Amino acid sequence: MAEHERQHVRVAVIGSGFGGLGAAVRLRREGVTDFVVLERAGAVGGTWRDNTYPGCTCDVPSHLYSFSFAPNPEWPRTFSGQSYIRAYLEHITDTFRLRPHIRLDCEVRALRWDTGELRWEIDTADGAGYTADVVVSATGALSDPSIPEVPGLDGFPGKVFHSARWDHDYDLRGKRVAVIGTGASAVQIVPAIQPEVRALTLFQRTPPWVLPRSDRPITAAERWLHAKVPATAALRRGTVWGIRELQVGLFTKWPDRMRLLESTARSHMRKAVKDPALRAKLTPDYRIGCKRILLSNDYYPALTRPNVGLVASGLAEVRGSTLVAADGTEAEADAIVFGTGFHVTDMPIAARVTGVDGTTLAEEWKDGVAALRGTSVAGFPNFLTIVGPNTGLGNSSMILVIESQLNYMADFLRQLGTLGGRAALDARPSAVHAWNRRVQQRMGRTVWNTGCRSWYLDASGRNTTLWPGTTAEFRKETRRLDLAEYQIMRLPRARRTPAAAKEATR
Ligand SMILES: Cc1cc2nc3c(=O)[nH]c(=O)nc-3n(C[C@H](O)[C@H](O)[C@H](O)COP(=O)(O)OP(=O)(O)OC[C@H]3O[C@@H](n4cnc5c(N)ncnc54)[C@H](O)[C@@H]3O)c2cc1C
Repeated sequence: MAEHERQHVRVAVIGSGFGGLGAAVRLRREGVTDFVVLERAGAVGGTWRDNTYPGCTCDVPSHLYSFSFAPNPEWPRTFSGQSYIRAYLEHITDTFRLRPHIRLDCEVRALRWDTGELRWEIDTADGAGYTADVVVSATGALSDPSIPEVPGLDGFPGKVFHSARWDHDYDLRGKRVAVIGTGASAVQIVPAIQPEVRALTLFQRTPPWVLPRSDRPITAAERWLHAKVPATAALRRGTVWGIRELQVGLFTKWPDRMRLLESTARSHMRKAVKDPALRAKLTPDYRIGCKRILLSNDYYPALTRPNVGLVASGLAEVRGSTLVAADGTEAEADAIVFGTGFHVTDMPIAARVTGVDGTTLAEEWKDGVAALRGTSVAGFPNFLTIVGPNTGLGNSSMILVIESQLNYMADFLRQLGTLGGRAALDARPSAVHAWNRRVQQRMGRTVWNTGCRSWYLDASGRNTTLWPGTTAEFRKETRRLDLAEYQIMRLPRARRTPAAAKEATR
């Protein structure tokens, strides 16, 4: 593409979920108006646009799972459903006047660092193409569905889809449906579709620990109070946050003490499941918290219904319309729903980003993903990843992490601006290693490393997904950019374009 055809922007944000929209709001608040948000889909919303499966609900109370700068007194339930969260994000887009910046149906196909110009070249699916001084990648850690390679799946005559790409045109009523996986999505899908399907077979490789969900409608009086006296909503948010902060030590320092929660989970199961054989199949053999703890009041009851069968084994093969589990159990199905999660430690965007020395981010990360303060990678200057490596949470709201990273982004831009002329900041490899070593050392004591196999771990068994501390600690670590952790790159005088030279003399 000829260079003159590309629009140049100060900042290009990729993605329009909580991360991308939050970045856009923050940019405007920092006085940056020369930016675009590039979104591959036809609407904003990220996770909450894509996951429309029956029963889709947040696992964190709504007053905490929302931006601190945009409280919503109208949340209808303590744990609000997908449609309300999606509407909240649309509301954010309008309230903060973000639409003029957003380019929909604009998938980012490739990003290349141009050392000569100290900027990123961005190829987009719409053919427009951009250049940007800084790229903020908010493409989401749970954004690209993962469907396992199952022999024979191609020959399955029925309907197949992933939980994050629900086909609402397909009528499940009267059908034999197989649900593959027992993660956070499957546990919500099973009770939601059980009443309408003819037969439901759940393929379970590993049982989850399930705790009760303290969900209830937020009364009109509470909503009125939150609207009239915003401090009451803030107090509510603060209380939910504080309780979750206090729990963090159990996950990160004292995993043995998690046993207490196991008895709560066992009694939750006993209340709903009277059959000891079914209970045995549903009882995990690993420490609670090692895999994500799930919250549900209707999952266990749904599994006791006559039209539901539990296969305590993973799906191994598909023969026509027969699904065969690893233990040889067979089940007939008209439709298969994969609740098998996402490409977490192998994010597709990484293969599309080419850094300083022609290496892609995927190559840089081939031995494991790592980023300074979850955000910057050596060799990829002026490139910030929101919800990057080791920023995930086991028990609290990802919006807290996102807002911390946005503080870091704001300071990055401020400090970059003070360097004068055209410049770039590239994380020092030593700083990335030191950060990663510190994170991985802390990981050793956590419950996530107590021996289970989870999506938190990469192929080598390292937890590159979660933050091993409180959200307050992460906030502190990302409050300011430490310039000593970066190498400053400047455009050599001789190679400055007329525009850059003019900028440099300002
Ligand atoms: C079903 C489900 C339930 C969840 N529940 C919780 C919960 O209870 N609590 C919690 O804290 N977190 C939860 N999460 C995690 C959730 O993903 C985060 O909380 C948060 O929404 C992530 O926001 P994001 O902006 O980083 O990513 P996303 O919301 O995934 O947004 C990423 C955006 O980037 C776009 N994109 C990706 N690649 C490209 C490209 N190449 N070009 C252009 N655009 C691109 C995508 O289309 C998408 O719009 C849940 C996730 C799922 C899937």
